[in-house]
Amino acid sequence: MKPTVVHELPTTSLTFQAHIIQARERLMSAGLSKTEATLDAELLLRKLANLDKGTLLVRRHETAGPDLATAYRKIIRRRELREPVHLILGVREFWGRDFKVSPHVLVPRPETELIIETTMTTSRTFSSPIHIVDAGTGSGCLAITLALELPSVKFIATDISSAALTVARQNAHRHNVSDRIQFMQTNFLENCTSGIDIIVSNPPYIQKSDMDILPPEVRNYEPSAALFGGHDGLDCFRVLFAQAETRLRNGGWIIVEFGLGQEHDIRRLASKHKNLSLMGTKRDLQSIPRIAVLRKTVEVN
Ligand code: GLN
Repeated sequence: MKPTVVHELPTTSLTFQAHIIQARERLMSAGLSKTEATLDAELLLRKLANLDKGTLLVRRHETAGPDLATAYRKIIRRRELREPVHLILGVREFWGRDFKVSPHVLVPRPETELIIETTMTTSRTFSSPIHIVDAGTGSGCLAITLALELPSVKFIATDISSAALTVARQNAHRHNVSDRIQFMQTNFLENCTSGIDIIVSNPPYIQKSDMDILPPEVRNYEPSAALFGGHDGLDCFRVLFAQAETRLRNGGWIIVEFGLGQEHDIRRLASKHKNLSLMGTKRDLQSIPRIAVLRKTVEVN
């Protein structure tokens, strides 16, 4: 195949635009779609050169310096190996705020923002100050966002991984809510005492057998412990519902995210707990049922 003119140029003399075009070609050869390759090539260059979209547009015909060219080549190499762009940047936006991410935590996903919205609405049904537990906090995105949105609420955020808790603590510090969240290393709610008003959780819920169909960005770079929920994907819900039943106060809520096609399973699991009622499910922006809302309702004889 005849090489393009762009490939023949010494890398150091390329313009910003030529760098982006070259990187896009490489990323497409690595299996990214044209749209994704274009977005990522541009975003990574902009972050590296600290340029906003408008400035890049104006300066696109300027030559990039040798240091920038070298750093960009290294970063594009990482992306070619299918490292997620947010892990390369070390940051991901959630509910409009930046969260540090590392290979020890799940990268926050937009659909998880449904938990925030639902919890904010649910918390308004309480008249006195409440306690919320974020079970399996990972990056801390749920507890920290809720702490910022609900200033009178106290939080406990748990994770079984101490490396994840370190990232969550850093994010709490970054957003000035360290004094509002107690971080605890435990399996979901294991070491929590009773009397919790609301439990939020986005537990690992992917079936082990689905590992092979995950994109390489997820399969190879995100922590298995944050992704997989045993052979049917439901192990963590079993643990969480059983723990929640004894630790929620009467009338308390569980707001959990679940995976594609698991709505029926969640309904079935909830029905096994006589003190828990499934109040409803919510769909995400792709219209996929994604959040379950349960309530502890103890019958009075
Ligand atoms: N609560 C975190 C999130 O939603 C971590 C979830 C997880 O590790 N499964 O991103």
